Amino acid sequence: MFVPLHGILRSKGGATARESGPHMAKKKVRVDMRKNRSQPPRDRSWTAEFKDHGFDEKATTHDERVRTKGDLSRRRTVMQDEPEAGGSTAAGPSIDTDQCLRGRVLKVQGLHSMIEGDDGNVYRCGVRRLLKTLATDERHVVATGDVVWFRLSGTDGLIERVEPRHGVLTRGSRGREHVLVANVDQVVIVVSLMQPDLKPHLIDRYLAIAQRGKLKPIVCLNKADLIDPVLVQPLIGAYCQLGVTALLTSAIDGIGIERLRSILAGRATVISGQSGVGKSSLLNAIQSDLALRVRSVSENNNKGRHTTTTAELIKLDTGGWVVDTPGVRQLELFDVAAGEVEGLFPEFHPYVALCAFPDCTHTHEEKCAVKRAIARRLISARRYTSYLGLLDGAGSSS
Ligand code: GDP
Ligand code: ZN
Repeated sequence: MFVPLHGILRSKGGATARESGPHMAKKKVRVDMRKNRSQPPRDRSWTAEFKDHGFDEKATTHDERVRTKGDLSRRRTVMQDEPEAGGSTAAGPSIDTDQCLRGRVLKVQGLHSMIEGDDGNVYRCGVRRLLKTLATDERHVVATGDVVWFRLSGTDGLIERVEPRHGVLTRGSRGREHVLVANVDQVVIVVSLMQPDLKPHLIDRYLAIAQRGKLKPIVCLNKADLIDPVLVQPLIGAYCQLGVTALLTSAIDGIGIERLRSILAGRATVISGQSGVGKSSLLNAIQSDLALRVRSVSENNNKGRHTTTTAELIKLDTGGWVVDTPGVRQLELFDVAAGEVEGLFPEFHPYVALCAFPDCTHTHEEKCAVKRAIARRLISARRYTSYLGLLDGAGSSS
């Protein structure tokens, strides 16, 4: 889960000072400054807020966070952009956009980030101290994929502001999550129809991950050259009913490649899927030597501490980026509380409210509307089995 960087900003009234753009007004805010080098506390509101609001950024921007005493050392006043009603909230102090360049973080390497500016050049940037201080529970202030404003000094730059994120891919152990990639638009779930055999429950698992990160999923049924496509039409239909785009592809004979290329164009996409399903082959079919570039990145990242899963955005000729994140590939991301699983199956929603028990887990309970819907084939039995599988693997802390 993502908690915006401005989560600890405390508004003290604050009259509008001046307009800084079409949607923003400035206000003075008091900012609690963290003691440098102090360990962030294990904050119960991480999980509590997630349960209440999921990934709803707006809902988690309140400053009702629980803090341990002595946690905050001093306060200071900074100018912060104040969104108009309905606008998104800015993260951190406002900046003079005339003096700053905007760009996308391609990767984060220790204290520095490689940023592609809107001018097309790549800059190496550090992070302004104030921004670091504003960071709360996230390990890094800046994540791959972030849209940032930075000030140039010589050939390097200093990140002054991080724009609010959407579509985050996180990795977490209970109650604490780390943003792997921010501002991802979609995830392409690559599965193979044969060699290795199709595993529909694995697709459902990936779909749940996408749902959790509010990412648009696209299911890519690869190696279509190896089977009679007629056989998979029912499955494609089932995904269509869930509102998920599913397409047949073959990296060998080019089926679906043009469509996949257009799906990736101009967007930020995470490619996921087990080893051997054809991710690299598909990337190469879309743009020659793309897989090579992606692979060299992930090999680089895997050197040293294996827990480090830094992602890197790779630019597409058609515009947009792809990222092949090791953590996502291995499904390491799935660490959810049992109570969360139901919410990741959108087709259950209409029935959940009809269950006799408000805390129905749709397993052993009587008068369960979800189970009745399955008996009447209104919900697919395959999806229900996937639900049970995820529930089984989910944490008991609901
Ligand atoms: P990755 O591990 O997901 O990146 O998979 P690779 O791209 O390395 O592919 C694994 C194996 O599957 C290789 O031997 C590829 O030649 C083969 N392969 C990939 N895509 C296809 C396809 O569409 N059809 C067939 N028949 N083989 C494929
Ligand atoms: Zn139920």
